[in-house]
Amino acid sequence: MPHLQPDPAGLRPRRIAHLDLDAFYASVELLRYPQLKGMPVVIGGGRRCADDAMLQDHGGLPLHQIQLARFPRLGDYTGRGVITTASYAARQFGVGSAMGLMKAAKLCPQAILLPVDFAEYRRYSRAFKDIILDIAPLMEDRGIDEVYIDFTDVPGGQRDGGRVLARLIQKTIFQHTGLTCSVGVAPNKLLAKMASEFNKPNGIAIVLEQDLQSKIWPLACRKINGVGPKADQKLHGLGLQTIGELAQKEVDWLIDHFGQKTGAWLYDAARGVDASPVVLDSEPVSISRETTFERDLHAVRDKAELGAIFTRLCQQVADDLQRKAYVGKTIGIKLRYDNFKAITRDQTLSDHTADARTIRQTAGQCLKRVPLHQKIRLLGVRVASLRPVKDALVYEQNRPLAQTNKAQEASYLIANEGQLF
Ligand SMILES: [Mg+2]
Repeated sequence: MPHLQPDPAGLRPRRIAHLDLDAFYASVELLRYPQLKGMPVVIGGGRRCADDAMLQDHGGLPLHQIQLARFPRLGDYTGRGVITTASYAARQFGVGSAMGLMKAAKLCPQAILLPVDFAEYRRYSRAFKDIILDIAPLMEDRGIDEVYIDFTDVPGGQRDGGRVLARLIQKTIFQHTGLTCSVGVAPNKLLAKMASEFNKPNGIAIVLEQDLQSKIWPLACRKINGVGPKADQKLHGLGLQTIGELAQKEVDWLIDHFGQKTGAWLYDAARGVDASPVVLDSEPVSISRETTFERDLHAVRDKAELGAIFTRLCQQVADDLQRKAYVGKTIGIKLRYDNFKAITRDQTLSDHTADARTIRQTAGQCLKRVPLHQKIRLLGVRVASLRPVKDALVYEQNRPLAQTNKAQEASYLIANEGQLF
């Protein structure tokens, strides 16, 4: 049996939970509009006339009394938006996150379509995280609807493998917010993340060290958090479908095929080994902006338009970073082609930055590395490997002034507006 990481004190076995809200955005909307419960609901696109008309015209009735017939339907949608979240009832029709709304409309035209309301989701996000922190203080924030929690030393955290504490947290979140979540509790983050999916929605799954072969090994390699579509494709090419099959491979063989770092990581992951700590007060992982175009654009024929959009995205990301007081080191781009295939590229700089010009230059370098003969429907810019600017101030002082000169930055951006690279 593979050896799993003991907790540093060696007293109690490590118990780590991954908690993930169920269909979060859709669930928040159902709290606002309980009359939609059990109906297919999809969240996506921007605020549209139909929603505004509905809200204006509901004659001052409370939101929960708006008649079903008044809600906008997916079948009436025209545009280029994508689904952010689909309610479980909508998922029955085969619609899901990241699907184009027009495509989803063909599968489930009767679904209610609601616009994304991030302010409301953030409010609920803070609420459920505060509830968790009251019960179990060691929490790692992993985004708007998921967290890791270190159960090891929390009362109830060891009982029944963590089930008792998981149930308490689940129940308290539901009582206070009306939202359901799914929890996986395991010896580490890697396994907990997989486990939280086992009994979705509103489920709890416990994975113990001895469950590796029965619960983890039958899963597809893609279920390992960190195995993306590309690595998965490569694993398939090598004849490896399941984590169990991956676990049969020698570390040297994996390193030969995937390089030192990834090979060694895959070897451990397949054995359920992951020593990564639960990081408290987690910073955002990345800051990004993306846009779906009104019409598909071509890199050559629509170069000026695309260049202007690209520059604007970089400027927005830089503004976001500066406003939130972060600097980042890894600059990335995301493209979605007209056939919906997405591609990402990134580049890591030697220094952290929040400088629009640097982001634009680096993102341009990334863009040079992708095929551009096909039309594009979406473009995104992302800055990752973030750190708070407080620490960065020390660094900024040692930096050539020219690079932080705002005026110069602005003139560069204007001069390059019509350029792609
Ligand atoms: Mg979720």
